[in-house]
Amino acid sequence: RLLHQAHFLKSAQTVEQCPPDEGFEVAFAGRSNAGKSSAINRLTGQRALARTSKTPGRTQLLNFFELDEQRRLVDLPGYGYAKVDKQTRMQWQRHLDDYLARRRCLTGLVLLMDIRHPLKDFDRLILDWSAQAGMPLHLLITKADKLKFGAAKSTLLQIRKTLKDHPAPLTAQLFSATAGTGCDEAWARLGDWLRV
Ligand code: GDP
Repeated sequence: RLLHQAHFLKSAQTVEQCPPDEGFEVAFAGRSNAGKSSAINRLTGQRALARTSKTPGRTQLLNFFELDEQRRLVDLPGYGYAKVDKQTRMQWQRHLDDYLARRRCLTGLVLLMDIRHPLKDFDRLILDWSAQAGMPLHLLITKADKLKFGAAKSTLLQIRKTLKDHPAPLTAQLFSATAGTGCDEAWARLGDWLRV
């Protein structure tokens, strides 16, 4: 499986520092604590891959993981760390906007949301951008193991219903990094976007 080939490539603070804009890239976004690192590690079958993103100093960067010469995953800066001042936060916002607006090889965006706290302000921001840009979006509803199956399923259906008029391609699924549920569905979506 290609995802299992993932290895850390580089961090970039600005769009200029990103790897050459070619091939196919899928980016992961989410509020901090949404379960983004755990999901990336689970999907790539690597215990500590995305922990690099949490090394102090790397949290505000775009972190690139290479799958092969033409394919990459990107860990976008988590949003909502309490300890960050307003100026730094605005700077992240600008780099994120810049990346999303200018990156040609970006074929899809994975937005991770804790099943107990879906559709917060940051998520709305990403949804709006996806709508504007016509960028396909895949929602990973994380930590699904925290709810009983019926409650998890009904949260998923509610989210789909809320977003049914989203003007860009949008899919949503349940995911649990701890239980390992939802991997097949996520791999299929990523494979599609990465043209594997
Ligand atoms: P990030 O800040 O978005 O990268 O979030 P992390 O991956 O570091 O996860 C934040 C917290 O949620 C950690 O304590 C994880 O152990 C926990 N967590 C992540 N994914 C899951 C999951 O699928 N199920 C449960 N129960 N906890 C999870």
